[in-house]
Amino acid sequence: MEDTIVALATPPGEGAIHIIRLSGKNAFNIGKACFEPKNKNKWQADTSYTLHYGWFLDGTKKIDQVLVARMRGPQSYTGEDVLEIHCHGGMLVARRIIEACLHQGARLAEAGEFSKRAFLNGKIDLVQAEAIVDLITARTSLAADLALNQLTGSLSTKIDDVRQDILDILSYIEATIDFPEDEVDDLAQTELSERLIKAKEKAVEILKGSKTGKIIREGLLTVIAGRPNVGKSSLLNAFLEEERAIVSEIPGTTRDEIHEYIKVGEVLLHLIDTAGIRDSSDPIEKIGVERAWKALNKADVILLLLDVNEYNAKRFSKEEQIIMEEYAEKTIVLINKIDLMSSYELNDSYIPKDIFVLPFSVKTRFGFEELKKEILRRVYEGNHAISAEPLLSNIRQINALENCINNLEKAQEAVYANIPFDLVSIDVRAALEEISLITGHNVQEDLLNNIFSRFCIGK
Ligand code: GDP
Repeated sequence: MEDTIVALATPPGEGAIHIIRLSGKNAFNIGKACFEPKNKNKWQADTSYTLHYGWFLDGTKKIDQVLVARMRGPQSYTGEDVLEIHCHGGMLVARRIIEACLHQGARLAEAGEFSKRAFLNGKIDLVQAEAIVDLITARTSLAADLALNQLTGSLSTKIDDVRQDILDILSYIEATIDFPEDEVDDLAQTELSERLIKAKEKAVEILKGSKTGKIIREGLLTVIAGRPNVGKSSLLNAFLEEERAIVSEIPGTTRDEIHEYIKVGEVLLHLIDTAGIRDSSDPIEKIGVERAWKALNKADVILLLLDVNEYNAKRFSKEEQIIMEEYAEKTIVLINKIDLMSSYELNDSYIPKDIFVLPFSVKTRFGFEELKKEILRRVYEGNHAISAEPLLSNIRQINALENCINNLEKAQEAVYANIPFDLVSIDVRAALEEISLITGHNVQEDLLNNIFSRFCIGK
């Protein structure tokens, strides 16, 4: 945090302009050494949030005509003094400006270092820091809205509210333990139990929308399953043809199966075409089959393709039966190649009642619109005002909140079992640590602050 850091803020390459960001104690001094303003009076007035035109120099050598935006800490992105230098959009120009800053004692910033400083200086919490990345990488407007919502802090406020409740519970326990002469009576037990329940309920409420949040952020994991030749690849291609807004490759996905990203409405479908699922003794094929089962396990939606002739003959494979039994809730059955029939009427009694069944034809696109509608319904179900709601969306945050809830439950059980309060506090403390991970608060220090400021124990 002592260093002044510099980096290119725009993507590398050629464009109209580049922006170079400079942040730290020495940022303004470096600006003074490298920048020759056209309007000297305005520059020397040293005011924040101002824009200045002039030459950028390395020593005495002119490098480019630039605009310099000046933002004084702590009212800046990083919380430090910041200059943003807008230069002409060539890589050489940008590099020479960065070198000029290095010559004046700045160092190159590490990845994410500006945001890290913003976090360390208390400008943003971890939820907001992660939301910035999400906003930049969002592939649908809905995902961008969600990130923006988290960035403005509405999610953090909800998390902080639960966190404060847990802090209060801990303080309450500490106060009770610190005065052993006040017998831990039934009243204290009831009070503690009620507080634990209240905190847990709030946390559960936040967790509720997180599944939808995760889908909006990462896409709906959709697995296309079925026997060889039933039309899986054709369905994937149909999606790619129909939904023109194909999303570019997302890094970090495995290449074992075919992964495609497609937008249906405002929802990102993360489609996986698995290797044909069937029993096999061939070892290589076996691996593929194992992967397919793994994919089915983690899928949000399974599109199970059945061949219409096999269906009418009531011939289901063992694998098809397992999918329909084990994953009924998330399975949509598409009875494909219905165009081969003279009528679209089907006997629907062969499939468990709770499974959504569609007569389908990839070839003629029969049922395609209805399939898309059904997929969207599953995402939006009970969540019509998604973009207006602050939702948890990131697996790190979701895991932490789930762990927090588990620990609150454990604490509650301990109270019921008449376990001494100082032992109950172990679970509550664990809950606090978990929820603090979400926003990145320092537990120890905050607990102390909370105890001393709110309870005035006077010891
Ligand atoms: P996969 O092995 O499950 O990926 O199946 P494919 O997508 O390769 O399809 C196998 C064959 O079925 C191809 O010849 C497709 O043209 C054909 N097919 C796929 N869907 C339909 C359909 O809806 N109607 C008809 N008549 N043929 C289809």
